[in-house]
Amino acid sequence: MRRIHVVALGCQMSVADGGELARPLIERGLRPVASLGEADVLVLNTCTVRQHAEDKAVSMIGRLKTWKDDDPERVLIVAGCAAERLGGLLLSRFPHIDLVVGAKSLDDYPRLVEEALAHRFDHPGETREGFHGEAAPNTPFGWASPVVAQVTIMRGCNYSCAYCIVPQVRGRESYRAPGTILADVGAKAAVGAREIVLLGQTVNSWHGRDEAGRAWRFADLLRAVAAVPGVLRVRFESPHPHFVDDELIEALATTPGLCGHLHLPLQSGSDRLLKRMRRNYTAASFLEKVARLKAALPSIEVSTDIIVGLPSETGDDFARTLEAVESLRPAWAYTFKYSPREGTQAAGWPDDVPVDVKEERLARLNALCDAYNDEAMRARIGKTVSVLDETGGYGRTKDGFRVKWDAPGEPGRELLIRVTGSSKRTLLGEYER
Ligand code: SAH
Ligand code: SF4
Repeated sequence: MRRIHVVALGCQMSVADGGELARPLIERGLRPVASLGEADVLVLNTCTVRQHAEDKAVSMIGRLKTWKDDDPERVLIVAGCAAERLGGLLLSRFPHIDLVVGAKSLDDYPRLVEEALAHRFDHPGETREGFHGEAAPNTPFGWASPVVAQVTIMRGCNYSCAYCIVPQVRGRESYRAPGTILADVGAKAAVGAREIVLLGQTVNSWHGRDEAGRAWRFADLLRAVAAVPGVLRVRFESPHPHFVDDELIEALATTPGLCGHLHLPLQSGSDRLLKRMRRNYTAASFLEKVARLKAALPSIEVSTDIIVGLPSETGDDFARTLEAVESLRPAWAYTFKYSPREGTQAAGWPDDVPVDVKEERLARLNALCDAYNDEAMRARIGKTVSVLDETGGYGRTKDGFRVKWDAPGEPGRELLIRVTGSSKRTLLGEYER
């Protein structure tokens, strides 16, 4: 039987897309495997949000030449955001690629993959009929647990943040209909998913209309997803601060099953830079929204993304970022050095913050964020927390902290774990019940 392996680089959307890209192949009879060496087909889903991510994808493609040479029957499919940006360049530079599918061509993908494979794997045993029913709808690939299922609810982004390449490679926003999303959630819950992660680039700008013509907003969808039988927890990523309104805050505070964590990217604490970035909020309005959220839901944990070294960032701008982080006290943060992306507005500005200054600022910011993370982790030591067991001995708290403990575990159940220590952003604990 032919086997397929998926590697997804980058964000959770890329991981979710990786699963979608594998689906038509699994339906065709290929069996998912956890390692590249065993695979006849590799789907590599790429990222281009920063230059480093794209470089990683390109060097991986280069190294895959030997994998392909070992067995020329093998099929290499390169997809995703870097594939969208580089397109034909990839094919001319790496003739060992069989198919390039950009992030905007996902709708065409089943047809493209059929075409690419039409003359391959045509052994009679490898037809759809031959392996009918073997693949589960959300077969894990080793990166995700079936207990946690990602559900993409929107694609693309209508923002145009000056530094960001996402709108260019993923296109304008499009939304899945409420009925389709709920059917997907129901199907995933029926095969064991207990936590649903709703995904989109500005996930809370989602809106839709149901078959009866009723308008839905994101808060309505959250409530409906949380009510699907079998679903214990609902998360979503990434919300845009602009669409965090009273309705969403109310839903977060009152819907059982909504996780007590919000990832809300701040990007900068300098109003001058936020304006230049076209983020559509000020540091004060961002913090005011978080304060309203915490007033409604005092236990909520907030995490964030921050960029240092945007063109023209001064010491004063950076000081404003540190101040905003001090007010926000994020449970954790993803921090990035600005990386110019071709075709974005910011790429036209001189990249004038010297590398050593970017690095020094990043180190100071990381030290501050690490201190808040340590504080949040330490506050949990000695407490008993509810953890959704994902893999038998590993899971997350409602507010998003990773927890590891020695067996017994019970994948799919919420267990009580007593936290005894921590190591590298992960809480360590003991099973209570
Ligand atoms: N849609 C999400 C973010 C997607 S990109 C949102 O708007 O919040 C994920 C993160 O990568 C961003 O939040 C930002 O912090 C970072 N990022 C995006 N473009 C970048 C660039 N050119 N250089 C450095 N970091 C970048
Ligand atoms: Fe990029 Fe801004 Fe869209 Fe997020 S909201 S994906 S940062 S353009």
